[in-house]
Amino acid sequence: MFTLPETVLSILSRLESAGHAAYAVGGAVRDLIRGATPHDWDLTTSARPEEVMAIFADETVVPTGLQHGTVTLVIDHIPYEITTFRGEIGYTDHRRPDAVEFLDSIEADLARRDFTAGAIAYSPARGLCDPFGGVADVKAGVLRAVGDPMTRFAEDGLRVLRALRFASACGFTIEEKTARALHEGKHLIAPVAAERIYSELTRTLCGAGVEAVLLSYGDVIAEAIPELIPLFGFPQNTSYHDRDVWAHTVATVAAIEPDPVLRWTMLLHDVAKPACHYVDERGTAHFKTHPEKGAPIADGILARLKAERVTREEATALIYLHDIDLPDDRAGVHRLLVKLGKERTLRLLAVKEADLAGKSPYGRTHGRDVILPRVREIAKSLLAEGAPLSVRDLAVSGTDLLALGLAGRQVGDTLTRLLEEVIDGTPNERNPLLALARA
Ligand code: ATP
Ligand code: MG
Repeated sequence: MFTLPETVLSILSRLESAGHAAYAVGGAVRDLIRGATPHDWDLTTSARPEEVMAIFADETVVPTGLQHGTVTLVIDHIPYEITTFRGEIGYTDHRRPDAVEFLDSIEADLARRDFTAGAIAYSPARGLCDPFGGVADVKAGVLRAVGDPMTRFAEDGLRVLRALRFASACGFTIEEKTARALHEGKHLIAPVAAERIYSELTRTLCGAGVEAVLLSYGDVIAEAIPELIPLFGFPQNTSYHDRDVWAHTVATVAAIEPDPVLRWTMLLHDVAKPACHYVDERGTAHFKTHPEKGAPIADGILARLKAERVTREEATALIYLHDIDLPDDRAGVHRLLVKLGKERTLRLLAVKEADLAGKSPYGRTHGRDVILPRVREIAKSLLAEGAPLSVRDLAVSGTDLLALGLAGRQVGDTLTRLLEEVIDGTPNERNPLLALARA
């Protein structure tokens, strides 16, 4: 019925030949049903972990979670998680079961899984096992808890965030009772480790369905990032905006490519707007200095969530820069590229484009950033031409200048001046630059 990769077929059939039941389960089966390509394979079997280890003794088998019944088989550098059918007992810490028990039935294993879309097993030998109507839910694009949603979220608060992640990544709608339990049980994410919160939120932010998820579940996300609460419903009485700060924020997240740095930047770019808000005599709202004030707040949020250092630093830098006035002449754009470097400049343009896309029709056509298409064109052509972005890219080097008799700090200062000259139109070629250096 489904086409499984050769390796998966052979793992399943080796387990079956040894007398055990074995299935593919979880995200891979869900993805096969929805016509997406599985990115990894979770397998489940009646074989106990030691039996799995013995059956694959000739392969690389890593006992990644023996007490939970999980071993990882690595074939051609691809990991396959094989987990013994199991049940879970007691969730005193609302995060992890106190104990697991190995079981003989696939149905009982599927019952411990969080959402119907992931509680489907398939094997070529045994067909589909779908006790909770997962296939119908996947086909309808519905995310539904297995069993009573509130009970399942109380067992493990991580599932609250997994729900948002699946809804966003698969573009699923969350079934009503499950949705209500997410709002009512949002505090259940409290015991979830910061790294896990960050990783689920990042995957939520990068999903195709992020807009709907953020608009409906901002309150849940605010459990992890209370700094967002002032944004909800905060009005922006300027002609440039027709949405409140949160709705604008959400539109900008959806408008930028699904890259973690860029999506986090957009989520937090206006975090200080409410705090910077004032209304002038004419009744127009202003939010001066919100980028400078927002950058350290974003830095604090990303530090608390234990984001990777590069993501945190880059997002913070982009938030600080997001409202700067851009130049729209060649030399100005060239100077920007020199100052920020290629990567950060291109990201800043993407951030500004997304920010603009989230504004009112008037704002999109009248703001300072209407020049963006021209700025991007110029940046593109400068990069295509290989315009020098640092003194190292100049057609002359420090050695050339030493040969001309310059010494010490003169060398560096002259190279910097030459780069300025090239930005202002001198060709980046040896002779004109050496002539200038002599002069
Ligand atoms: P993907 O791998 O595409 O992100 P997935 O559904 O495979 O999605 P995983 O996190 O890989 O998700 O987990 C594999 C399966 O294990 C899930 O489909 C689910 O059935 C079960 N599972 C994982 N974590 C939990 C949890 N915290 N609570 C209940 N079931 C879980
Ligand atoms: Mg998976």
